[in-house]
Amino acid sequence: MGADGGVRRLEVGQYACVFCGLPQDRVATLEQDWVLLEPDVEVLAHLVPAEHRWIVLSDGRVAVYGVCPPEADQRCRIEHRLACAEQGLPDLWPWLTALRGENGRQAERLATAEAEAREVELPDAG
Ligand SMILES: [Zn+2]
Repeated sequence: MGADGGVRRLEVGQYACVFCGLPQDRVATLEQDWVLLEPDVEVLAHLVPAEHRWIVLSDGRVAVYGVCPPEADQRCRIEHRLACAEQGLPDLWPWLTALRGENGRQAERLATAEAEAREVELPDAG
């Protein structure tokens, strides 16, 4: 009886975040992997980008909920790293990240143009 029939005992433990020290729920995923979820937080799925929604299955494991658009009352869990004050946010909304990048370049061009304008206006301050 060495084989376990593919059903491993599901252990849910709490692990302290190495960045902020707060507890996170370590939950098994469908892919035989683990994910560290924010404890006691369930939000409406449409508030969370599709690839970051974790829904709890009947056996206690979790899976990414990619249904689009999500059902109105579907709730999901999120990874602690999205809520961690000590970690940078990943690329949650690709269009927003693209807009931020474009704005960064625009701000740089504006700053360069203003610096050049100042040089022309003030050739010699002495
Ligand atoms: Zn943390």
